[in-house]
Amino acid sequence: MKVLKFGGTSVGSPQRMKEVSKLITNGERNIVVLSAMSGTTNSLVEIADYFKKRNFETAHSLINKLRIKYEAHVKDLYSTEAAAQKTTELLDEVFVLLRSFANADFTPSVEKAILAQGEIMSTNMVTNYLEECGVKVRLVSALDYLRIDEDGEPYLSQITAYWEDFLAQNEDIEVFITQGFICRNDNNEIDNLQRGGSDYSACLIGAALKLDEIQIWTDIDGMHNNDPRVVDGTKPVRQLHFEEAAELAYFGAKILHPTCILPARFTGVPVRLLNTMEPEAPGTIINNEMRQGAIKAVAAKDNITAIKIVSSRMLLAKGYLRGIFETFERHNTSIDMVTTSEVGVSLSIDNDTHLHAIVEDLKESGTVIVDKDMCIICVVGDLRSQNVGFESRIASAMCDIPIRMISYGGSEHNISFLIHQDHKKAALQALSRELFSE
Ligand code: ADP
Ligand code: ASP
Ligand code: MG
Repeated sequence: MKVLKFGGTSVGSPQRMKEVSKLITNGERNIVVLSAMSGTTNSLVEIADYFKKRNFETAHSLINKLRIKYEAHVKDLYSTEAAAQKTTELLDEVFVLLRSFANADFTPSVEKAILAQGEIMSTNMVTNYLEECGVKVRLVSALDYLRIDEDGEPYLSQITAYWEDFLAQNEDIEVFITQGFICRNDNNEIDNLQRGGSDYSACLIGAALKLDEIQIWTDIDGMHNNDPRVVDGTKPVRQLHFEEAAELAYFGAKILHPTCILPARFTGVPVRLLNTMEPEAPGTIINNEMRQGAIKAVAAKDNITAIKIVSSRMLLAKGYLRGIFETFERHNTSIDMVTTSEVGVSLSIDNDTHLHAIVEDLKESGTVIVDKDMCIICVVGDLRSQNVGFESRIASAMCDIPIRMISYGGSEHNISFLIHQDHKKAALQALSRELFSE
């Protein structure tokens, strides 16, 4: 059994939903995770924002626009009155619910309930379409089995227990459809796995049930060797080790949610990236195999803040770094990159919510310098120290780029550079030229 996840573009129109339906009725018994139709979650974010600002007129007009779009989708998707009627009733419930939030106090849980409606609509639409086509299908609500704790960590054992029981009780069902992205939290409120989190939902299910494969179907033929939105002529990478894929996802390769590879890696379930628009293309397989001596890909992560703390007190001092790290821990902020010298330490963070408080505390330890709008460029591959020559090729590609930090040696798979965002495009292009041109 496999889990197949289809992203927003893959279910972005009635025509695409029909094509996805063909792909998932392949004679195997599969679990299918769906995102919201492309653009819907962004619209819901906008609607939530107008509710928050108590501008109900604009919120209602955006809800209306969305309703008109979905009514047209229903007309295009179904050929029977019964399926169209069933879907219209569900969509009516969703739009009544959305409008009702005007009467509620705006809280983070209201916002999350609004954002959840995209996946609720898309999964109902595809389930009803498959039913209309005579497929033995069952819609399974992610709100019944996916729960996160107060740190956003999912309870994997609850997924296993729920699904094992559910699959055993529904042996005649061929296709199980469920929502990506959405879940509940410890207070039983609707919550989510962060934007792009449907990949994570699929990987959690695949890992919890130790399935044969996790398939992430999207709009491109696998992981490319550089960001195709920035660099021309990028090529698909056919195979990646879990560690390499995890680094690329964490450091900005948008094709995968930052943490989605972790559960697959722990359980060894391979992840395959495939293209809905070109289902025959081989895509990318992510598994435990390390291809020796190859640089695989480059990725970039934006909106990074660099913090440097300089103090002669650091010289030969014990516990100095611990004090610095504890400051970040106290303010619930995780650190991405670290470099040290005898008299200073530089760190990078991607969440600057608590930056002011962190800087105020760090001033007790030394002079603090903050640089915003930075970007991490991450090169991934077999970068073990005995593979001489790779680091110098990477460094020489970066010869015209002003570099703020370099990190190498933390893992055997990656070398990272911190640069200003203004130089990102030039850096990614130079790396592609040096590392991947034939
Ligand atoms: P989905 O809606 O299916 O989840 P996403 O938009 O989240 O799809 O991810 C697919 C997109 O990721 C591609 O269209 C591509 O523009 C972008 N992308 C960024 N970096 C890479 C990369 N290294 N390889 C492939 N795609 C990438
Ligand atoms: N619909 C959600 C989003 O747009 C989750 C996902 O697509 O993965 O972020
Ligand atoms: Mg995505």
